Amino acid sequence: VRLRLLGSAAGGGFPQWNCGCANCAGLRNGAVAARARSQTSAALSADGERWFLLHASPDVRAQIESLAPLAPRAPRGSPIAGVLLANADLDACLGLLSLREGTPLVVVATRRVLADLRACSFARALERSTGPVEWRALELGESAPLDDEGHVRVTALPVPGKPPFYAARAASPEDNVALVLKEARSATSVVWAPTVARRDAALERALRETDLALFDGTLFRDDELARQGLGPRTARQMAHWPVGESLPWLARLARRRVLVHVNNSNPILREDSPERRQVEQVGVEVGHDGMDLL
Ligand SMILES: [Zn+2]
Repeated sequence: VRLRLLGSAAGGGFPQWNCGCANCAGLRNGAVAARARSQTSAALSADGERWFLLHASPDVRAQIESLAPLAPRAPRGSPIAGVLLANADLDACLGLLSLREGTPLVVVATRRVLADLRACSFARALERSTGPVEWRALELGESAPLDDEGHVRVTALPVPGKPPFYAARAASPEDNVALVLKEARSATSVVWAPTVARRDAALERALRETDLALFDGTLFRDDELARQGLGPRTARQMAHWPVGESLPWLARLARRRVLVHVNNSNPILREDSPERRQVEQVGVEVGHDGMDLL
């Protein structure tokens, strides 16, 4: 089984087009030791032939080009068989619109997430293509095969989160999930949890047993944005558990722990920051684009 982290930043990427925070400005002028990052996504394959994307980020085109096995092997077509979504946030799903060129694609998510996407008129661009998108719903807690051979199975585990702002509806347990992926041959398991609002007992059980956790690294502190003059909202209001608080918990779970969905304001992006040291000292890694994790 292979898993490549294609992108590791939160919505907006790093640097973000309209952001002049210390990190973004410092990355542009070379004053901070950090890597540029595209928006969070990963590519998974059991056999190296058929691939699934975990999220279709707004950077999906460049991300596909960054990994050779994702290139077409015929005049038309793609080794990418489908896209899995943990939620309907725009930075997780906007890339679907860039995958509208008529190649059959399966989009796998909870019923609620699929409904939010399909309520958007842009989704019709995906449905009218000659190889239309197949919307495949995941039932919470039920394992489903990703391929006919059953090489990889996925389970959606409800995790504290929120509906996307554009959906303007009541919250549902299907709004945000962790995707628990299991590959049969190697018995390898991965938990994809880029958005986690707070501690959760069922997630803790899943993380305890997994080989690899890809976990919410959005913000380090609850008031990080306000402190830097970037906006009034706290991490909690945005449904992200601050890394400074989740770290001791995460550090004793999973065999390997990698933070993804890292916002450009987060001090852990600076390779020489005390916060980065704090994360690495307890054996948690900060994800970066191009990391081969399996
Ligand atoms: Zn910034």
